[in-house]
Amino acid sequence: MATQRILDFLATRRPDGPCLVVDLDIVADNFNAFRKALPDSSIFYAVKANPAPEVLKLLASLGSNFDCASVAEIEMALEAGATPARISFGNTIKKERDVARAHALGVSLFAVDCVEEVEKVARAAPGARVFCRVLTNGEGAEWPLSRKFGCVPAMAIDVLTHARSLGLVATGVSFHVGSQQTDTEAWDAAIADAKFVFDALAEKGIVLTLVNMGGGFPTRYLKDVPSAQAYGRSIFAALRRHFGNALPETIIEPGRGMVGDAGVIKAEVVLVSKKSDTDENRWVYLDIGKFGGLAETMDEAIRYPLVTKRDHDEMAPCVVAGPTCDSADVLYEKTPYPLPLSLTVGDEVLIEGTGAYTTTYSAVAFNGFEPLRSYVI
Ligand SMILES: *Cc1c(COP(=O)(O)O)cnc(C)c1O
Repeated sequence: MATQRILDFLATRRPDGPCLVVDLDIVADNFNAFRKALPDSSIFYAVKANPAPEVLKLLASLGSNFDCASVAEIEMALEAGATPARISFGNTIKKERDVARAHALGVSLFAVDCVEEVEKVARAAPGARVFCRVLTNGEGAEWPLSRKFGCVPAMAIDVLTHARSLGLVATGVSFHVGSQQTDTEAWDAAIADAKFVFDALAEKGIVLTLVNMGGGFPTRYLKDVPSAQAYGRSIFAALRRHFGNALPETIIEPGRGMVGDAGVIKAEVVLVSKKSDTDENRWVYLDIGKFGGLAETMDEAIRYPLVTKRDHDEMAPCVVAGPTCDSADVLYEKTPYPLPLSLTVGDEVLIEGTGAYTTTYSAVAFNGFEPLRSYVI
């Protein structure tokens, strides 16, 4: 949502070119909503969603922990004021020398999903705590993360047993139910899988303590999404259902849900045209596209709210595209986007819900377009 602070910033600063404006008040509200929704879970913000230093600093000051995917992200979290104990290296695909660097920086919590990765961690970060990621089916998610990360629960038993045999601390199980997960019940099956791994390892005398329940909490784009409170209730009920009174320590790793609705991109219409006199749909070209930060429009997966000053005028479907000379740089075509018939060259378009997964996805200078600028207010 474009907050009054964001609208005031754009009106007074009048930045030229496309840019993202992030309102820190919304980030703080989101953090507090997660804390309230799952008061017994630790929050590890997924840094990749938006690593702006101001965002990390705010979250560090509010008591957040940080889920990092690289040494550079770990350094950013440290820079923002987090101690190494508040950082996890949550990527299951790490170079051994990066594990060693993280270890040297004091990080002691690592994700793994196979014995090969366990061996790297055991060599480069002796004695560290590891959790094993299990696969989920990603159903209900608009941006699924399934297949690439995690192993089947039966394999997680071997992975964690191997970790223990190499002197690591087998700490627990993690999963990610898929990003922009709109089903509040999606955590249930994965929590059941975690319990299965807990029980199997307990029989071998290995006591796991941690369930890392990942991210997946949605941002409102065009459709309403359930509240953090609704997710919290459903997740807590699933923990109770499967773990009874012996509740494990839990972590959540919100990325999109922490910053998505805190940001708005200001864009501009560069061209409105048709391909033939009989063409039904107009083509609307913006000064930002897939390579300028809107990569999540891939397969039209994420459908951002587009807001113009002419939205009270008559609307008609448009193909929406970016400004670069690449035909992949089309945002919405399979499902055309209704935009005002009066929309014209030079009009401002606000793209809402763009606080997550935009700045870091923008190309350095494809076609000479500069990377997406960002202002954090
Ligand atoms: C990307 C990622 C997240 C954040 O996911 P969201 O859907 O943005 O909340 C959390 N955990 C891990 C391990 C991730 O890779």
